[in-house]
Amino acid sequence: MFHSRIPTRTICARTYTTALVQPPLLGLNSSVRGKAEKLSRDWKGTSASGENTKNFIGGEFVQSKATKWFDVVDPSTQTLLTRVPETTNGEFEQAVAAASDAFKAWSKSTVLTRQKFIFELQRLIRENADSLATSIVLEQGKTLQDAHGDIARGLQVVEHAAGAPSLLLGEKIEGSRDMDTEVRKVPLGVTSAIAPFNFPAMIPLWTIPLATVTGNTLILKPSERDPGAAMIIAELCQKAGLPAGVINIVHGTVPTVNAICDHPAIKAISFVGGDRAGRHIYERHASSHTLQYSPLLTHTFSGTKNGKRVQSNMGAKNHAIIMPDANKNHALNSIVGAAFGAAGQRCMAISVVLLVGDAQAWLPDLMDLARNLKVNGGFEKDADLGPVISPAAKDRVLGLIGSAEQEGGKIHLDGRHIQVSGYEHGNFIGPTIIEADTAMTCYDQEIFGPVLIVLKADTLDEGIKVINQNRYGNGTAIFTQSGATARKFEQDVNIGQIGINIPIPVPLPMLSWSGSKASALGDLGFYGKSAVEFYTQKKTTTSLWKSEDALTSRASVHMPTHH
Ligand code: NAD
Repeated sequence: MFHSRIPTRTICARTYTTALVQPPLLGLNSSVRGKAEKLSRDWKGTSASGENTKNFIGGEFVQSKATKWFDVVDPSTQTLLTRVPETTNGEFEQAVAAASDAFKAWSKSTVLTRQKFIFELQRLIRENADSLATSIVLEQGKTLQDAHGDIARGLQVVEHAAGAPSLLLGEKIEGSRDMDTEVRKVPLGVTSAIAPFNFPAMIPLWTIPLATVTGNTLILKPSERDPGAAMIIAELCQKAGLPAGVINIVHGTVPTVNAICDHPAIKAISFVGGDRAGRHIYERHASSHTLQYSPLLTHTFSGTKNGKRVQSNMGAKNHAIIMPDANKNHALNSIVGAAFGAAGQRCMAISVVLLVGDAQAWLPDLMDLARNLKVNGGFEKDADLGPVISPAAKDRVLGLIGSAEQEGGKIHLDGRHIQVSGYEHGNFIGPTIIEADTAMTCYDQEIFGPVLIVLKADTLDEGIKVINQNRYGNGTAIFTQSGATARKFEQDVNIGQIGINIPIPVPLPMLSWSGSKASALGDLGFYGKSAVEFYTQKKTTTSLWKSEDALTSRASVHMPTHH
């Protein structure tokens, strides 16, 4: 079987070390070295020059006493930047205690107080976008421009959260004379978030603003591969006036994730990442919640129905159909950008293009556009795409490309042997285009690299059938100039997020993430209205104040401020 030769995604792909050695940062060129050193000087929680990344617990950036550490390495050069701990049990308990304690006051703060924090956070993220972007490029490898995009999309969620006074509006009805029933959206308690490596700022910002503005506290576990942006955001939250303990950051891998799943004080988990972890978390969290009503009566809840909430966004295989009537230039440029941007490491990357009918003749033009993309270190001005995250990720992608060759696929553009001058040790893969069929391993697996699978179809119906049979449901797109064709596609395709002449149809934050099928577990999507539902529970109060009992009193003439 070809499968056995393809390295599976594993969490411990990188070796960990226990002793801290100061790396000389010599792998970085001098201008990047300067940026790395500045980042270490400017921020308390993160380092790009060899110091350990700290946990953030109860408002303090604290050095972990962990015995296990994971290397964070620049994917363009393999330079060791920092290390993250596998948070100890004791430290994890401290984070939960800090979050539980902070919840008492934060949940009682007014929505206008919380809104003020969000306004401040928005301003500080804008002001410090360069630091965030530097950290992202260093640790994640994407291009500087793309790193700013990562921040900008997260910032939109912050800006949406500033609408909390409207988002949290309750309902009220006078059901009987003088008797009102009021529905309030109240916070859950301590919530948690577990993030992937591919959007180090955006994905933490999917949860931080909405969890906190709704009155919850949060424990965030960033990806162990690129924790820097989350640490900078934590410091910005502090500077924006967020009280100690409202947000806490613990680092680690599976044991820390399991601790989050198992802790009874944690009421909700937002997970974004791969299938294996996402399913594990959904199942473990859902099945581990046991409530003890009395010494004799306990009840183990299953599923998310009973107060424990999980939202789990996972893998994808996003198809785009190009119809022969499409605007060719727009369609091909869109596909190339969406397939190879961020080195294909976006959950909404287009990884399969279905060329329908005469559009099949456009394959050489598609290849030319892809061939012309510049692969380079993320800080280089001409870079269109950077490296993939790790040598293990590169091996896996190369294995999948190799499997296509062995299973009868045609490699039209082969990026396996690319050399990037000045970055000889980076995890680079050039844009790769493979003509395949749906039985091949490269079609079956999420590749998460700069690899585009080309399928050919005679008709729109054939294309829709392929998409509908795929297990994933994150996103899909069609390129056509016919409204009728677009309408049929939209109606017949069973995917959660659809683009019409748009390759990466990610909803804006006032709407909600709606990936479906095997790409998501849990009923409530990230951000938007769903996030408000996710982070709050309903509380109804019915009260009777008979107007006939009123005493007349003097009215207040002061302007109410509600603080
Ligand atoms: P990953 O699953 O390896 O890691 C995600 C998080 O889970 C990390 O914090 C990691 O420490 C933890 N983790 C990893 N393996 C675990 C395990 N076995 N048990 C418990 N926890 C575990 O994912 P990644 O490689 O960081 O990110 C890439 C994946 O994320 C891709 O599959 C991509 O499609 C997906 N993703 C999905 C979305 C979405 O919204 N659907 C968005 C971004 C990324």
